[in-house]
Amino acid sequence: MAGSKMGGTLKMAVGISVLLIAIIPLGIIFAPGFGAVGVVIWLSAVAAAVFTIVRYHSQCTSYKCPSCGTTFKISILADFFSPHTPEKKKVRCPACGIKDWCEVAD
Ligand SMILES: [Zn+2]
Repeated sequence: MAGSKMGGTLKMAVGISVLLIAIIPLGIIFAPGFGAVGVVIWLSAVAAAVFTIVRYHSQCTSYKCPSCGTTFKISILADFFSPHTPEKKKVRCPACGIKDWCEVAD
């Protein structure tokens, strides 16, 4: 069902939103008090949180190649930098090497 795909994407979007809503005000409130060190720590926390979410997403999501039908997972970097829509992502298929819009398979 399309519902479960959208559910996963929605959960991820909600997760990121909650994270940003929680972390950004904390940074604005506390970072000035700690000066440059505070800003660096805050940015590190944001980067770590985003990295954790992207890693979780790349480990849980498979894509199906439209050319050969192979289902595959992608690396964290590919997940982070590839263009995507809620249901498709433009990635290179490891089986046939064609870069195309691959559907989310699970
Ligand atoms: Zn392929």
